[in-house]
Amino acid sequence: MTVTALLGEIADVGRDGRRGGYSRHGFAPVEGELRTWFVEQAQRRGLDVRTDRNGNLWAWWGTPGPNAVITGSHLDSVPGGGAFDGPLGVAASLSAVDLLRSGGFQPGRPLAIGVFSEEEGGRFGVPCLGSRLMTGSLDPDAARRLTDSDGITLAEAASSAGVDPARFGRDDEALADIGCFVELHVEQGRAMDLLDDRPSVAVASSILAHGRWRFTVTGVGNHAGTTEVPDRRDPMLPAAAAVLAARRALGGRAGARATVGRLTPTPGGTNVIASSVDFWLDARAPEEAPVREVVEEITAAARAAAAEEGCELSVRQESFGDTVLFDPALRDRLAAELGGVPVLPTGAGHDAGILASRVPTAMLFVRNPTGISHAPAEHAEPADCEAGAAALARTLESLCRDEP
Ligand SMILES: [Zn+2]
Repeated sequence: MTVTALLGEIADVGRDGRRGGYSRHGFAPVEGELRTWFVEQAQRRGLDVRTDRNGNLWAWWGTPGPNAVITGSHLDSVPGGGAFDGPLGVAASLSAVDLLRSGGFQPGRPLAIGVFSEEEGGRFGVPCLGSRLMTGSLDPDAARRLTDSDGITLAEAASSAGVDPARFGRDDEALADIGCFVELHVEQGRAMDLLDDRPSVAVASSILAHGRWRFTVTGVGNHAGTTEVPDRRDPMLPAAAAVLAARRALGGRAGARATVGRLTPTPGGTNVIASSVDFWLDARAPEEAPVREVVEEITAAARAAAAEEGCELSVRQESFGDTVLFDPALRDRLAAELGGVPVLPTGAGHDAGILASRVPTAMLFVRNPTGISHAPAEHAEPADCEAGAAALARTLESLCRDEP
């Protein structure tokens, strides 16, 4: 099947009528529907599907075993996300299996498609949950206690999705089977489209260092109409100072990013001075040091504004991942075997970035003509998606030829 036909089958699953695009969160019924779809697709191809202790799915072509070639991606989305971030990699993996089959290929090494749980952190705040739990970079106790915006814990959500949270944790057995991992993903910027030949496919070189911080400013809830300025302790002011500081902090720091994309006032009434405001800072840069500097600068601005307004500020790191450099030998080999496609860095995090700490890992990108991602307008041309699947098939075929 083509990538377009596969994505067409799930085009109506998890549409978000309010935000536009899709809201497909980890361990939620909508993601469950997508996982069921994947399992059916895999079984139709004779693949043997297993769920690991962290809720990740593995569809095996041949007997599972060590030194396997693994591809795949994720099916969840950010709130109001696009159709391609995640599902493109899963659909391209299935399509690549079809291409390999039609060419009479039989893998000489075990080959599997992995589908990782809650990659975006759209529900529980921590991105790449499935791969972090698997590699041991996230403490299972801390994970079980994570809550979504309705106060449901990850443990509860996992149980209702049929995954036993008591089994969460580092999975050395599963990791030992992975010889290498290649994730295909829609590009989340315009770097490929800005190249003269606008290539369909590129290979990743690195991922920015990236963290998420939760800020809570506490003031005094009061009446918007009757409270004079000297009596106001409005937590929105320190929050606003932080948002502005986030933009200022990027000045002079090449490649740094700082974004406040989520802000929740409590109680959240138009005629109410909030009693508290929670907001989340996403900060990234080519190395860890500038990320820390950016966060310190923003925290200092929020703290000064909080002191001036008579508010309290607390800041908590929710996740951090250092710069990822993908396996240089694998990167150069893939780029050469695909006809000298460009090698590009990315600012977006991926399960491949988490697995790269444990196994040789590479990524293929498919061109995104506008660069828009994590939004309903995210797009990739059908011809580029099919070229991506063909490139993935060639890559898997070549890797499977390697001697263990
Ligand atoms: Zn993704």
